[in-house]
Amino acid sequence: MENRNGILHIGGISVEELRKRYSTPLYVMDEEFIRDNIENFKENFKSEKLNTEILYASKAFLNSYMVKIIRSENLSIDVVSDGELYTVLKQNFPAEKIYFHGNNKSNTELEMAVENRIGRVILDNIEEARRLNEIVIAKYGHNSYRQGVQLRVNPGIDAHTHEYIKTTTNDSKFGESIFDEKVKDDLLEINKMEKLDFRGLHCHIGSQIFEGSSFVEAASRMIEYIKELKNLGIVVRELNLGGGFGIYYSEGDKPLDIGLHLKNLIINIERLVDEKGLGLEKILIEPGRSIVANAGTTLYTVGGVKRTFGGKKYIFIDGGMTDNIRPALYQAKYEAEIANDLERKDKKIFTIAGKACESGDIIVKDCEIAEPNTGDIISVASTGAYCYSMSSNYNMILKPPVVFVEKGISKLTTRRQVFEDLVKNDIYEEI
Ligand SMILES: *Cc1c(COP(=O)(O)O)cnc(C)c1O
Repeated sequence: MENRNGILHIGGISVEELRKRYSTPLYVMDEEFIRDNIENFKENFKSEKLNTEILYASKAFLNSYMVKIIRSENLSIDVVSDGELYTVLKQNFPAEKIYFHGNNKSNTELEMAVENRIGRVILDNIEEARRLNEIVIAKYGHNSYRQGVQLRVNPGIDAHTHEYIKTTTNDSKFGESIFDEKVKDDLLEINKMEKLDFRGLHCHIGSQIFEGSSFVEAASRMIEYIKELKNLGIVVRELNLGGGFGIYYSEGDKPLDIGLHLKNLIINIERLVDEKGLGLEKILIEPGRSIVANAGTTLYTVGGVKRTFGGKKYIFIDGGMTDNIRPALYQAKYEAEIANDLERKDKKIFTIAGKACESGDIIVKDCEIAEPNTGDIISVASTGAYCYSMSSNYNMILKPPVVFVEKGISKLTTRRQVFEDLVKNDIYEEI
């Protein structure tokens, strides 16, 4: 992203040109930025003692083109539903590099995973393990195929993040607590299951975390736990530490230096596992947001400015909570600019509101921005994660297209919905 003569350019293309080609609202993804982020992860998540693997958490942003990028970068991928699995498999993504998460996977989802022989199912609990074992037997009989699994556990780290994206308190709906003694029995049982190949443990302590120390602490508790399990005869070969690396959205956010953080994490892990016979072979991480969030920008067109009787000033835009639910869902903060006139003077405080029928449909509360005119372009930065993937058709508003840009070239990778899409699943019967 750069400012050329007061006009925002993304991937070398001006926002005016992008609007001319694709209209607004529009998701713009900077491909080079995504690939650079991935390179940074690859370069710094390396160890001389352990194997490493990086999984892209696809729920942050997923379309077919993104699958191709991940495939071409040789990363592995996380999915959390049959729909995500379908989207990934459809692009011939190597099945052994797919990891399936979720606290309530259906039999259909587990069957789909087993049928396609995906790399790992991340078990949430013992009941799921039993179901999965039966599903593999039903599918392959007693021949040699075994499904690779990890168990999600919860190391009880209190990472400072929003309640809704915090996942590791003792009452989290995800995984099992390492403090719960029964989980050791569960692990012994899983290890004895004929058709499950127990590979290791998974933990994910939350999202948008800024303290590197939280991750180090989680890793350290997990390794302690792995040692305890070793004494019970349970060998943990893989330790999956999840994602959650915090990124910059707005003033006050102090994101991690990912490169430094990963190096430090690796050093700590190497030190902690420096014990013969522990059996740990591989560490894995699952970044989502930190790969795509800053690469995305949403462009909107201003419909008008409104001053309320109470004195509040609104900027109305042609999208809103249907393309970015995060401010309404968990008070997420964003920064916005007049993208076609970055130098405009005389900034005031405005609230940027969407067009949906909800008072909570606000994209930026108390935004310091110059007064826009009808027709100006508003850009909202860092919308690459959890915006398109959480978009909806509330009010039958059409979902915007996704355009990837790089070196002056733009590619439409998901088209704008058309009215037909809104009714195509409806079944018309005579009444
Ligand atoms: C959401 C999620 C991630 C990715 O989290 P980010 O904050 O986007 O990095 C990784 N692992 C699991 C299990 C998740 O649920």
